[in-house]
Amino acid sequence: MKFNTKLLHSEVLESGEHGDILPPISQVTAFRYENMEELEKVFQHRRAGYAYSRIGNPTLTAFERRISDLEGGRGAVACSSGMAAITGALLAVCESGDEIVAASGLYGGTMDLLRDLEKLGIQTVFARRLDRPSLEKLITPRTRVIFGELISNPALDVMDIPEAAEAAHAAGVPLFVDSTTATPFLARPLSLGADVVIHSTSKYLNGGGNSIGGIIVDGQKFSWDFEKFGALTEFRKYGKMAFSVRLRTDIWENLGGCMAPVNAYLTHIGTDTLGLRMDRICENAARLAAALQELPGIQANHLSLPEHPCHEYVEKELGGYGGGILTFRAGSKERAFRIINGLRYAIIASNIGDLRTLVIHPASTLYINSSRQAREAAGVYEDTIRVSVGIEDADDLIEDFVRAVAKADGEPKENDIKE
Ligand SMILES: *Cc1c(COP(=O)(O)O)cnc(C)c1O
Repeated sequence: MKFNTKLLHSEVLESGEHGDILPPISQVTAFRYENMEELEKVFQHRRAGYAYSRIGNPTLTAFERRISDLEGGRGAVACSSGMAAITGALLAVCESGDEIVAASGLYGGTMDLLRDLEKLGIQTVFARRLDRPSLEKLITPRTRVIFGELISNPALDVMDIPEAAEAAHAAGVPLFVDSTTATPFLARPLSLGADVVIHSTSKYLNGGGNSIGGIIVDGQKFSWDFEKFGALTEFRKYGKMAFSVRLRTDIWENLGGCMAPVNAYLTHIGTDTLGLRMDRICENAARLAAALQELPGIQANHLSLPEHPCHEYVEKELGGYGGGILTFRAGSKERAFRIINGLRYAIIASNIGDLRTLVIHPASTLYINSSRQAREAAGVYEDTIRVSVGIEDADDLIEDFVRAVAKADGEPKENDIKE
């Protein structure tokens, strides 16, 4: 089956006892049992069943099986947010005294989390790129995980997953990839060598901008050294499933970061159209980037542009797609604000992955608390505008941006595209 067929007809999408086409929303806290013996068996894991929605819920199970299947994984845990997913995944492999090696242009919330983890004795060291030389230099006997984003946002750096995985595995360390901006439509990191893939489902998987969520998918291929990974020692008997079991039965249950059943349902139906949306969004983004590049005093940044430093990965790793996020530099903060304020269709909002085109000035919002150095490592300058391209008609989007740029420069001419 190809991507869209699998999305709708995979065997993991079995219907329930009434033949429901979609998973019913079990928006409940607890599940009742006819007698105490049955509930006891559920607690002893001797009988399948649900007891309390923080530790398991059928609407979440349906969503977890679907995303795990799409990513080619062997187990998944649905979380209350992307941040809950990243927190849970890292805490399941790290304990005090351990180290993380991460890429430096990570999502702002993740950068803040890594600082929080320092206070718990988990240190992070950063590399600009997770390439072999950087990893060989930064991995120490205390390193427990390599963490990076497949396509960073808004820098738009692409991780070379096979290279990073090889260097990580040579040192006996797993590679965790945040693939939020790529989605399984562009790439499946587990098939490229990653061990665990994480998404903020709030973005493209949901697609409609209607619920916060996150998910962790485990490929269950990594061979854990239980002497080295103290966090997993107790789970030795589970072998390659140790991370999944520790994550679900310890960290996820006890942090209390479960996804809300109604959010799992909304994200499940959003996922139905992932292939169609991403195809359209990536095409729109490439067309808009090419049009912006032609405008006076605008410098566009999108993976589809041949001059982009990571352009080769579009074919090598991303199925020919450049993703739905583009940025452009407007020359000054004032001009950037004027352009943004002049847009008719693009909505000013702090999010990505919506059906609607969203636009923001990252330096004065998402990176307001970052140092200039950290901002610039993430590709954010005073004059940078980020666009999360939606599914509108590309011609309308291009016209909107061209008009807004002309208006910002005080020359509201209609046809402002240079030859
Ligand atoms: C949004 C985002 C997150 C955080 O997800 P939330 O659902 O907002 O908690 C993490 N990583 C990336 C790449 C993101 O875009």
